[in-house]
Amino acid sequence: MPASDARQSLLESWEDVLAVDHHCHPLRRWPFQLTPVELRSAFTEAIDPAIADQHVIHTAAYQDALRRIAAELECDPSEAAILGRRNAADPGAYARQLLGRTATEVMLVDHGFASSDSFTLEQQQQATGIPQLEIIRLETLAESLVKTASDPREWFGAIREALRAAVKRGAVGVKTICAYRASLKLEPVDTDALGIAFSALRLRAERGQPLRLTGNALCHALLFEAAEECLALDLPLQVHCGFGDPDEDLAQTSPLGLRPLLIDPAYRDLRLALLHCYPYHREAAYLCSVFPGVYMDLSLTIPFAGLEGIRAIREALGLCPTSKLLYATDATRYPEVYLVAATLHREALAEALGELAERGILSRSAAVDAGRQALAENARRLYRLPNGRQQ
Ligand SMILES: [Zn+2]
Repeated sequence: MPASDARQSLLESWEDVLAVDHHCHPLRRWPFQLTPVELRSAFTEAIDPAIADQHVIHTAAYQDALRRIAAELECDPSEAAILGRRNAADPGAYARQLLGRTATEVMLVDHGFASSDSFTLEQQQQATGIPQLEIIRLETLAESLVKTASDPREWFGAIREALRAAVKRGAVGVKTICAYRASLKLEPVDTDALGIAFSALRLRAERGQPLRLTGNALCHALLFEAAEECLALDLPLQVHCGFGDPDEDLAQTSPLGLRPLLIDPAYRDLRLALLHCYPYHREAAYLCSVFPGVYMDLSLTIPFAGLEGIRAIREALGLCPTSKLLYATDATRYPEVYLVAATLHREALAEALGELAERGILSRSAAVDAGRQALAENARRLYRLPNGRQQ
């Protein structure tokens, strides 16, 4: 994208800012050889392999990703050249080079989305040299504790105890993927339906069958419990909203469904971080503008949605105060994804804030400050992180 003077100067003014990546996932443990389909799969939410096989190469987002990775590796912007270069490199040095370009102070990692070949948090800190902090994935934790309880009350008690233990070992937030397992349009807890749904889950656990927490009765009751415990522990609750893989029903993932949590005075001090948001980013921005505890990011939208990512930041900044916009890569598995998401995110911020400065809506110094807020300061306040270092 041809950067105007205002945008270029904003990017330069943030060069000393190390970002707080408030939502990302574990890296795949190296060494490994990366295939074309694996690289493509990292830039799509599709589950059907035909998409990575035939269509990802034809997206603006992937073409841009190839160009960015190739620029870093100083090779042709083709899959063959990139994979040839990266697969021949020393994997640790290669990963540290690409991750170094993300200018990240600390990564807040949702480890619930890990497979057996992922780094643990400690390993990832060691391997990357970047401090890592844990975000607890609520539904995964809850599934692991079904067996320990005979009724929902006991189950919630065990979950809350596990959350307290996680905070003691350093976790800084809780994440819910309710939108993947139920509707995000929250309903009041129906204790009868909850009891029946829990019994069915418990039976599966006893039989050693795979457990999957689904449905409004279980997921909504769990979310309200977690919200209460987050309040008690002074932790923010991250909520997956908007787009993700087709395992979710996108129609049911608007953050407006969180209204029961937002209007109940009991949750007045709860801090919520709305993740991804697109295509409901305008709804999310509205919530940020009227409820003090609500924050938002565009994370995944930035590397996956081409120019829409920049437009989404512009639209979000219509209503969302710059004190509530968060930076996140939502990257997972491959260093290339972190690099692409991080560089694009800074450019998208510069594009959106640069336009506001060019139009005289924000002064240049206000635009510079807004970028610093989004890249690090807002997350530091939200997660109660110590003051950061600069590079
Ligand atoms: Zn994510």
